[in-house]
Amino acid sequence: MALIVQKYGGTSVGSVERIKHVAERVAKFKMLGHQVVVVVSAMSGETNRLIDLAKKIQKDPDPREMDVLISTGEQVTIALLTMALKDLGLKARSYTGGQVRILTDSAHTKARILGIDEDNIRADLNAGKVIVVAGFQGVDEAGNITTLGRGGSDTTGVALAAALKADECQIYTDVDGVYTTDPRIVPEARRLKTITFEEMLEMASLGSKVLQIRSVEFAGKYKVKLRVLSSFQEEGEGTLITFEEENNMEQAIISGIAFNRDEAKITVLGVPDTPGVAYQILGPVADTNIDVDMIIQNTGANNTTDFTFTVHRNEYARAMQLLNGMQPQIKAREIKGDDKIAKVSIVGVGMRSHVGIASTMFKTLAEEGINIQMISTSEIKISVVIDEKYLELAVRVLHKAFNLENAG
Ligand code: ASP
Ligand code: MG
Repeated sequence: MALIVQKYGGTSVGSVERIKHVAERVAKFKMLGHQVVVVVSAMSGETNRLIDLAKKIQKDPDPREMDVLISTGEQVTIALLTMALKDLGLKARSYTGGQVRILTDSAHTKARILGIDEDNIRADLNAGKVIVVAGFQGVDEAGNITTLGRGGSDTTGVALAAALKADECQIYTDVDGVYTTDPRIVPEARRLKTITFEEMLEMASLGSKVLQIRSVEFAGKYKVKLRVLSSFQEEGEGTLITFEEENNMEQAIISGIAFNRDEAKITVLGVPDTPGVAYQILGPVADTNIDVDMIIQNTGANNTTDFTFTVHRNEYARAMQLLNGMQPQIKAREIKGDDKIAKVSIVGVGMRSHVGIASTMFKTLAEEGINIQMISTSEIKISVVIDEKYLELAVRVLHKAFNLENAG
């Protein structure tokens, strides 16, 4: 007998039929003698619908009331799924976040979990019940409803698995695992049988949307055995997120290629090359709450230097406006921007022990005539910024160059 936490995302509970289907899947695990805790998201589209309603009333909706509103989506699905389980003859009980007592801080719409009282759940499990918990929501010390940020049900699932010391946390979604890259761009993309936590973290932060990044951090920290699976397929082992030590020797050097088109590039040319200049430029950007991703500084001629950095494309206009306003003050010769860029990254723990990965990447792009505008690296990742129009080509040729169609 194992204790399994299963999390079902919005598309997996997107209709009454899908909810009944989830109930049948849960019943199968229960029949095998396992204890099952189910965490569900809102039905697909519901959270967006609720957010839109709020914005029709208040341009900048009150955060506390926003949480009261958007937590309702999950409350609907826990009730419906519990009914479906009962209809199959199972003992089951739903819990809101507050009823479990998933205690969070008070940062409405992006709260962090501080602790979970698992006693009630444990007692119900021991009494043979299936437990159905609303994802994405918690409660603060004062009893206010909080939510954990978009995609937060993943984190609820992992946090419950950690608190209950579950044998496995299964994340059911509409894809059957983590792929070497997006199969819509590269049809030869393969499902990975395993990927390490570190790689998954990089993939999540680089734009792969399979898991909420916070849930991956959580699983890594508490050593939760995490698996991504499809709720649309009857069979399949999905992708297991592993710790590096457990991974076998045949681990490919590169595990995946992530990309995103959400960035824009800003270049500040010809500023005096003196101490404090980076702070003068980037300090005000940070103070305006604009996140900066890659940063490059060149040594230019005549004691001047150039800065290039990337920001989220949604914040590009705001960042350009800010910098144009600062131009006289920072004594910049010129400020240029480009929001038609894309970032492509290769990720793999094998980079630690293999040389020549970066040069293979650069050679591959050069052979296609793709110009690299910026480069940044970490121990297990190399990212390049390129012209957006070459994104798909770049992903395809890199997938081939690193032989990823034979990975997994
Ligand atoms: N329903 C929430 C959202 O759409 C949480 C989740 O689905 O994980 O972001
Ligand atoms: Mg999700």
